Amino acid sequence: MAKKKIELEHQPKSCWDVYGSKAHGAAMDALAKRYLDFLSRCKTERETVDYVRERVTKAGFREDFAAKAVFREMRGKSTFLARKGKLPLSKGFRLIGAHGDTPRLDLKQRPLYEDVHMGLAKTHYYGGIRKHQWLARPLALHGVVVKTDGRMVPVVLGEDLADPVFTIADLLPHLAYKQVEKKLSEAFEAEKLNLVLGHAPSAKAKDDGDSGRVKKRLLEILHERFGIREADLMSAELQAVPAGPARFVGLDGSLIGAYGQDDRASVFCALEALLTEKTPAHTQVVLFWDKEEIGSEGSTGAQSLFLEYCLQDLLAAWEPKTRLSSLFLASEAVSADVHPAVDPDYQDLHEKLNSAYLGFGPCFCKYTGHRGKVGANDAHPEYIGRLRAILDAAKIPWQMAELGKVDLGGGGTVAKHLARYGLDIIDMGPPVLSMHSPFELTSKADIYATVLAFREFLKS
Ligand code: MN
Ligand code: MN
Repeated sequence: MAKKKIELEHQPKSCWDVYGSKAHGAAMDALAKRYLDFLSRCKTERETVDYVRERVTKAGFREDFAAKAVFREMRGKSTFLARKGKLPLSKGFRLIGAHGDTPRLDLKQRPLYEDVHMGLAKTHYYGGIRKHQWLARPLALHGVVVKTDGRMVPVVLGEDLADPVFTIADLLPHLAYKQVEKKLSEAFEAEKLNLVLGHAPSAKAKDDGDSGRVKKRLLEILHERFGIREADLMSAELQAVPAGPARFVGLDGSLIGAYGQDDRASVFCALEALLTEKTPAHTQVVLFWDKEEIGSEGSTGAQSLFLEYCLQDLLAAWEPKTRLSSLFLASEAVSADVHPAVDPDYQDLHEKLNSAYLGFGPCFCKYTGHRGKVGANDAHPEYIGRLRAILDAAKIPWQMAELGKVDLGGGGTVAKHLARYGLDIIDMGPPVLSMHSPFELTSKADIYATVLAFREFLKS
């Protein structure tokens, strides 16, 4: 018998080659369509939680923790999902955690004002945005307004083609001579990110000391359409996000362009994986967090005790004798988050050996952090070895990368917050171009491969 040739050198594999068959192509297309619909519908963490609830309840998940497949939400902004495995819970769970919040422009609590005969709204940006990317483009308003009686008024304005959109005006080049000489970090000021809301004056109201008739007209419209008054905006969360649906990109339609793919790409892939992997060995846990983009803070972020509370209740319902600490120590997790892909126009910022490329599958990131791995989880090699074996056995392309060249930047994910519990965890997710921009790009093939990879992990 001829000896099998051992491949000594490592070569990343293209998902397009591995999944070149007709059957894979059809499955990839169907998945991409569902993904586009998801991205078009979910532009806030609340909308993401609503979408997840819709799909998991259809799949039989229940709020009662006595059930075999359960879910719980936290303040409408994060979701815990679990499905019983064949093994007892004490053998540990397989967890995938992703975040549903995305960089955006939040309206301030007193947003409305009128200036130079225009109705405007003050904003406060959320997460790491590059301010100039948000100018002179159509924006939609998504969110909720809470009245003093507790009633919540949902708002989505600017997505329906019949709706008007909003925008932030940009400076004309003819008057930008001084601005273009400035440093980028100083050229665009946060307090100039004011949303154009309207400009027709109220026919009924009169100008008075405080505000003009344009602002009054805006208040009339808000009252007619949503039954809200100016003070109601104090207890509101309104987010200005890029308007319009997700789109296929390129002549071949092989890319997906949309707002919010960091990290709704991972949310979607984890959800798809969970819903298809129905009889796992270990208990599956999938968590969608909020507030990652501002440091995983708050009661709905990954630093909160939400996961602990849910697991305590799960243990009480399923296996009251198992201790929470031993459950954590027996468990494995993937911090599902996107990874920057090599940018064809800024290749010099990437160290090519340790970079992610579109089309080469989900990307492991052993450590994030900055200036010498500060703030990183830095996953253990024993764990990476195990995960490599799982993906290789299933012939799923994957890559290993870091954020960019050393000392050129940095970042973080939820991985370090979960690592505190002692479980094994690593960052993994599809590569993204134009990350944090209003129009992020992913590869259809990477989304497909990531779902398959998450499935293999969840059933391992
Ligand atoms: Mn992210
Ligand atoms: Mn991010």
